[in-house]
Amino acid sequence: MNQPQAEPAKLLIGGQWLASRTDHWQDIVNPATQQVLGRVPFATADEVDAAVAAAQAAFPAWRNTPVGARMRIMLKLQALIREHSQRIAKVLCAEQGKTLADAEGDIFRGLEVVEHACSVGTLQMGEHLENVAGGVDTYTLRQPLGVCVGITPFNFPAMIPLWMFPMAIVCGNTFVLKPSEQDPLSTLLLVELALEAGVPAGVLNVVHGGKEVVDGLCSHPDVKAVSFVGSTAVGTHVYDLAGRHGKRVQAMMGAKNHAVVLPDANREQSLNALVGAGFGAAGQRCMATSVAVMVGAAREWVPQLKALAERLKVNAGHEPGTDVGPLISAKARERVLGLIDSGVSEGATLLLDGRQVQVPGYEQGNFVGPTLFSDVTADMRIYREEIFGPVLLVMCVDTLDEAIALVNRNPFGNGTGLFTQSGAAARKFQNEIDIGQVGINIPIPVPVPYFSFTGSRGSKLGDLGPYGKQVMQFYTQTKTVTARWFDDASVNDGVNTTIHLR
Ligand code: NAD
Repeated sequence: MNQPQAEPAKLLIGGQWLASRTDHWQDIVNPATQQVLGRVPFATADEVDAAVAAAQAAFPAWRNTPVGARMRIMLKLQALIREHSQRIAKVLCAEQGKTLADAEGDIFRGLEVVEHACSVGTLQMGEHLENVAGGVDTYTLRQPLGVCVGITPFNFPAMIPLWMFPMAIVCGNTFVLKPSEQDPLSTLLLVELALEAGVPAGVLNVVHGGKEVVDGLCSHPDVKAVSFVGSTAVGTHVYDLAGRHGKRVQAMMGAKNHAVVLPDANREQSLNALVGAGFGAAGQRCMATSVAVMVGAAREWVPQLKALAERLKVNAGHEPGTDVGPLISAKARERVLGLIDSGVSEGATLLLDGRQVQVPGYEQGNFVGPTLFSDVTADMRIYREEIFGPVLLVMCVDTLDEAIALVNRNPFGNGTGLFTQSGAAARKFQNEIDIGQVGINIPIPVPVPYFSFTGSRGSKLGDLGPYGKQVMQFYTQTKTVTARWFDDASVNDGVNTTIHLR
């Protein structure tokens, strides 16, 4: 464990941790205290080229490394992540602001992907059919692509990098990771563990930076595929730029997730779920519940929802008992406060106002308290835009059909939930709702890695999602071989000018 944990963050190129030669740096700041934890370089174009070149050079040997050897590195990596998860969680909590328990969850959800990567031997198998014609067999190979790139957001600095590089490299690709410039330290600890687990020099590389670095990677001639997770504005740009340069691209983007509550639902469980999913991680989850749609008599539960939200404890993430930590930056806080102001001025009813929250001992923190709006309409900015803060909107409708129509009219398609005791209502909902991830009495339905993350519509570009079966397809290309062998030199079928196999 000899990679610098704090300042300045280093680049990893060809197995070497290097100090960047850039003159563009950004502070990594604890969002509860404003303490500077380190500095992140915005890599130069030459450094980006060097990282891609190192990945390209490592590819021929790595793609031919036996699958068992690749798998064993993942087995070692999952053991190392378990061993070091408390230490990484503390760093994650300090640089990102989430509670320690949530930081551990961030790491654990990524660890599950590493565990799944240990099954690559079966996951990467192709298909084989003999006698597709007389003595002719056809089989498929799932081969790695080459240099793949991952660009990750600030909100899950452990889970999302682990969605990407373990699956990409276990399939035989090499990788260049560009972590969030806001909180790269915990990501770097995971990369360091990957090296310790035996990932060879050049197979995994790291560059830091923002738009210029991302654009350089997306347009680099030697990059074959780009995985992006982040905001809709940046994801759309990345998809377009990398797509124009002939890369495979997957972009997971912003969201506006609705939870629909029917009056027959388990009242306590449903309200607890709304509060946890609405305000947990200070609302900075792409699968956070941002709109509670109360159907019929469930609208009478809103005062209880408010009472539960009021009880949440806002504090620094490392303090015991914290429910809601700070937002990632002062800029993010200003943005969320501006959106709350817009809700008030556009006529929504502010049931609970988190704008003035004070946290003793952390007066400089980027805190916003739980905020609840009712009387929200679809034309308001607070409904149209992703807030990415601890703000829950309440909308009321009379029927399940109206609720489904409301959710389906929203352009985002990341996640949704239904709270009910009725199997028939749940079945209708899962069938008619046009959202990629559905929870039935589950507030944040992020699939485990044996499935895939399947956000849809405005929340995603590209047809294959991260991790699971879909990402195996994303990180490999199928080669189909049709073969015939002759065991007798005298075989002579004569010339055949048709396309027919016989
Ligand atoms: P962001 O889009 O600001 O940043 C994401 C990445 O893009 C970072 O690595 C950043 O350095 C880079 N970047 C920033 N500006 C860029 C530009 N102009 N050109 C090229 N690259 C640029 O996102 P964020 O604020 O870090 O993360 C929050 C967003 O991510 C939210 O919208 C959230 O919904 C989304 N998100 C989505 C998912 C999902 O699976 N759908 C998961 C997590 C987060």
